[in-house]
Amino acid sequence: MHWNRTLAVALVTGVGSLVTMASAYASVAKHAHSQSIGAPNRGRLEHGVHLKTSSALRILPAVAPYDAEWATEELAEMVEQAAHDVRLHFADAILTVGQASKRAGGEIDRHHSHESGRDIDIAFYLQDAKQKPLLAGGYITIRNDGWSLDHHAHFDDARNFALLTSLVNSSHATITHIFVVHYLRARILSYAAKMNASPALIDRLASLMVQPAHVLPHDDHFHVRISCPRSSTSCMEWPYVVEKHPQKKEQPHHGRPTLQRARSSGRLVDDTNPLSHRRPAEGSLPQLPSIPDLHDSEGI
Ligand SMILES: [Zn+2]
Repeated sequence: MHWNRTLAVALVTGVGSLVTMASAYASVAKHAHSQSIGAPNRGRLEHGVHLKTSSALRILPAVAPYDAEWATEELAEMVEQAAHDVRLHFADAILTVGQASKRAGGEIDRHHSHESGRDIDIAFYLQDAKQKPLLAGGYITIRNDGWSLDHHAHFDDARNFALLTSLVNSSHATITHIFVVHYLRARILSYAAKMNASPALIDRLASLMVQPAHVLPHDDHFHVRISCPRSSTSCMEWPYVVEKHPQKKEQPHHGRPTLQRARSSGRLVDDTNPLSHRRPAEGSLPQLPSIPDLHDSEGI
């Protein structure tokens, strides 16, 4: 009886310890900082956070079913703050985000990067013909005159400039690239000059905005990439480069050699992988609605 009682006490104590350990673990897991692991095009995401929708931020309906709005805390906070900042200036402004990464990162259909929680697609702020905010269901291609192909949507210079200003000045993360078609890059820089933006801001925007070569033009959204967050110790800054034979998928590695190889190839760092020209197989996402506008965003 005494032995049994001792055993029972020991068991209860043991269970108690296990419960305590489990709660401690849960607490640690809950507060674990997000980790971007590997490269934007060969990576994954740990403890990512989901973009928070709000009165100032929504998910593009065409991509919402894919649940690929997971990111590092730094990227999510930067984008949420930007939506808030634009809203302070324009009470009716709603930022529309497309896809970032999947919950655990890794390969994602119709994108070549977006694997490590550091990339996100952001739809342009648009206006209708009456200069009212226009919230589309999918991405809208904008021509070089600022209008959509069917002339029902117009690039919103003021709100897009406010968005980019907030993003590049963010204290949450540092941007390394903003992919956008060349004529919208020129349009934004021209608007910034007209608004008497500081030379430093204009220089920064000019250096970040680029249309990568050899991929379809980014004429319906901004693709924003941030630098490796300081706390992501296994993060690889530059895209992984497959030299010649893309059939064999190699493992990511750390450090600068990839950048050097990318530069030595004379091509933009985000366009060095031959797989970037691969178009997803027709009907590869049969369980979800088609999203025809996404074809323009493949490769990055
Ligand atoms: Zn993208």
